[in-house]
Amino acid sequence: MFEYKIIGKAGRARAGIFNTPHGELQTPIFAPVGTQATVKTLTPAQLDELGASLVLSNTYHLYLRPGDELVAEMGGLHEFMQWPHPMLTDSGGFQVFSLAQTRKIDDDGVTFKSHIDGSTHRFTPEKSIAIQENLGADIIMAFDECADPNDHEYIRTAMERTHRWAERSLKAKRRDDQALFGIVQGGVDPELRAASAAFISSMPFPGIAIGGLSVGETKAEMHGMLDVVTALLPENKPRYLMGVGTPEDLINGIARGIDIFDCVLPTRLARHHSAFSPEGRLNMMNASFAHDRRPIDEGCGCYTCRTFTRAYLRHLIMAKELLAGTLLSIHNLHALIRLVEEIRAAIQDGTFEQLAPVLLDKWSNNASRDKSGKVN
Ligand SMILES: [Zn+2]
Repeated sequence: MFEYKIIGKAGRARAGIFNTPHGELQTPIFAPVGTQATVKTLTPAQLDELGASLVLSNTYHLYLRPGDELVAEMGGLHEFMQWPHPMLTDSGGFQVFSLAQTRKIDDDGVTFKSHIDGSTHRFTPEKSIAIQENLGADIIMAFDECADPNDHEYIRTAMERTHRWAERSLKAKRRDDQALFGIVQGGVDPELRAASAAFISSMPFPGIAIGGLSVGETKAEMHGMLDVVTALLPENKPRYLMGVGTPEDLINGIARGIDIFDCVLPTRLARHHSAFSPEGRLNMMNASFAHDRRPIDEGCGCYTCRTFTRAYLRHLIMAKELLAGTLLSIHNLHALIRLVEEIRAAIQDGTFEQLAPVLLDKWSNNASRDKSGKVN
């Protein structure tokens, strides 16, 4: 169980297979995010048809509502949401640091107030693992602290705390049918990133995640950190870049040896009427589409593009119909899942290095983000 087998390489890019109790993951892979045990606007059958094989869900949200014990009582996350394929849960750390109304961090854990009702809660590494064991995903995460990338002193403190919490997360783990991944932190400091990569690699985690990126740093800084970290990680374990997922980020990440990605971007953009396309990101509410008979992307084979015109999609958006979110989510997820599949095939047949600049050129206008990392 949890063996990672590399079946193709191109430069630092890898194609591999990671075995989980709910089936194998073919890496590189993009995971849609189902924050509250649902990928917003889509049914599991639609996700299946899109070729999604890994879905991420959020520990912080499910702990607060409906509660991890209720999920366990209902047979665990797979059974509760009727997703039969592999799942991953995060540790709750990132949401506590970004969403909770007030929080107090100490060396033992974090006390925070719920963003739903203001009630007080506490996460420790042991608590995070216990919640994730109740939820029952195939891949679970060590509890970590994600610091502001521009606060150098805090980054060091947070990294050291993340390392101690990684050891405690490992010790707290009881179930042997879940793969616990350690998380590399260290902000945008190459020395701290190298120290964190070496420390986390020295521990018996079956996979390694890279956290604290795509949180406001520049693209060049993110690429620099990936170069430092992946050079130090063991070859025989999957590497997961957390929360990253523009088309451009996927191509650049895979080229630097990343195997697993997740991001809310494709479904969040869909709910804001935006579609990935080789022409750049399209705002489907645009008046110029009112009489447009073309699909979103003539080169796309998704259900939305095979079936509907831009004019119809714009009409749904203007009429505030819920189907707009579903159809745009199908298109955006299809675009990322197919992009990663295309790259995987190219890694295996030895053409990735020629294909990468072509794909970067094709998808380069889909990455607009402001400095805070928020999607525009
Ligand atoms: Zn499409």
